[in-house]
Amino acid sequence: MEFLDRVGIKPSNSGVYCGRWIEAGGDEIASHSPATGGEIAKLRLGTVAEYETTVAAAHAAFLRWREVPAPRRGDYVRRMGERLRERKEELGRLVSLEAGKIIEEGRGEVQEAIDIADFAVGLSRQLYGLTIASERPQHAMRETWHPLGVVGVISAFNFPAAVWAWNAMIALVCGDAVLWKPSPKAALTALAMTNVCAPVLEEDGFGALLGLCCGEGSDVGAALTHDRRVPLVSATGSTRMGKLVGEVVGARLGRTILELGGNNAIIVLDDADLDMALRAILFGAVGTAGQRCTSTRRLIVQSGVRAELERRLVDAYATIAIGDPLDEDTLMGPLIDAGAVADMQTAIERATAAGGEVLRGGGRLTLEGDLAGGHYVDPCIIRMPQQLDIVCEETFAPILYILEVSGFDAAMAMHNAVPQGLSSAIFTSNISHAERFLSAIGSDCGIANVNLGTSGAEIGGAFGGEKETGGGRESGSDSWKAYMRRMTSTINWGNELPLAQGIKFGD
Ligand code: NAD
Repeated sequence: MEFLDRVGIKPSNSGVYCGRWIEAGGDEIASHSPATGGEIAKLRLGTVAEYETTVAAAHAAFLRWREVPAPRRGDYVRRMGERLRERKEELGRLVSLEAGKIIEEGRGEVQEAIDIADFAVGLSRQLYGLTIASERPQHAMRETWHPLGVVGVISAFNFPAAVWAWNAMIALVCGDAVLWKPSPKAALTALAMTNVCAPVLEEDGFGALLGLCCGEGSDVGAALTHDRRVPLVSATGSTRMGKLVGEVVGARLGRTILELGGNNAIIVLDDADLDMALRAILFGAVGTAGQRCTSTRRLIVQSGVRAELERRLVDAYATIAIGDPLDEDTLMGPLIDAGAVADMQTAIERATAAGGEVLRGGGRLTLEGDLAGGHYVDPCIIRMPQQLDIVCEETFAPILYILEVSGFDAAMAMHNAVPQGLSSAIFTSNISHAERFLSAIGSDCGIANVNLGTSGAEIGGAFGGEKETGGGRESGSDSWKAYMRRMTSTINWGNELPLAQGIKFGD
């Protein structure tokens, strides 16, 4: 695996970077490939002590960085994007090896990091405010945006590179520093991303802007969320984690961007193009082994096409090549660990006990040779009599619940009756239904698509979801505003001092 050398991964590594790699004082953990169960490399976690060093260095770097003109900050990000391009293949392979995504998706994840770098470079020349008409004569009003400080980034295992890049590239052009606490399940990718990007900043003594402190949520994660030097915490992961983080950061009146669990549905109406729907459902439900926040978990299908769609899905699932994620022909790799396999089994047991009928799959798979130690499962389709409790929960595995409805209104009511609100989709050729789905009385999600699936968002739009998904927005559109503070200024260029609202005070 010499490609690991090229992204700076050694057999044993420190998990703490603060402008340079420093000795980490925490436990040594091994990162294992979910595809084989084999060890990839070791890594020593940071402790709260190294967290302190990292945040102090990031804050000191921020004090200088905020004075660098934004387009020059953008130029550093441009060079990071170039380095990511040069190392795309190695980084993509590492994502695949460590997170178990198929290699095509591993490459796609790095491409997403490159795309957001490009976006941020353009943005660095467009951090604009407003001028506003003042009610007072010879006065001008304007709104400007300033850097916030150190942005804490807590990331999940399933997007070990892209989620950091979404935050880091935007935060850097906004004039902020970043302190990253990655998932311990995918920490080598964090090391590699830092190894590839930080040298661009190190050249001018700004390396500490990309602080990294690998650790557990309960120590390094907790230190980060309690820390008043971190005005914004962007946390991606389960709703359980988001509630904890939101409470702690909220108690100190800090800001959060919360990107939490989803329970995404595709509605298929009788007038849908079933060929397209089938492909979208397959990618959404089986792709990334159902381990995307935007994975399709519920299929809400109108009575007239339910039987045909079910039959075609069962046939299509049988053709999915399950195996080594680094093999170009594989379409579905393993789950992240044995716990995820057990969670899938429990969910299937609960669904069947509640009256669900397994149409196919659901079992644990033991593959041959090197893959025998991997965490493979057979993707599962379950027809449910109703949207019962288990369907309202996010199980991070390839389980697709099929729910039959009589028409659009019933579909819409069922669609919105879950606690999460991330991504949603409808397949229909009826423009009225499509527009209603996208209207205020339609989908209650942050992402709503027509005639395409729930997963695979582009970086140009704002990404995030409502309700228990957390309400945060990242990536494109005007998401950058969350990484800056807004200042409203009034300038009096006359010789009088008129007060707003025409108030007279001692005149
Ligand atoms: P997780 O919640 O177990 O862990 C996510 C991160 O939070 C890890 O870095 C973990 O160490 C940290 N953490 C845990 N407890 C913490 C605490 N008390 N304080 C601070 N940090 C803490 O999630 P996971 O299993 O790694 O990822 C899967 C979950 O992430 C799914 O629910 C998925 O939907 C969600 N996710 C959401 C998005 C999105 O954009 N909405 C994207 C990717 C993943």
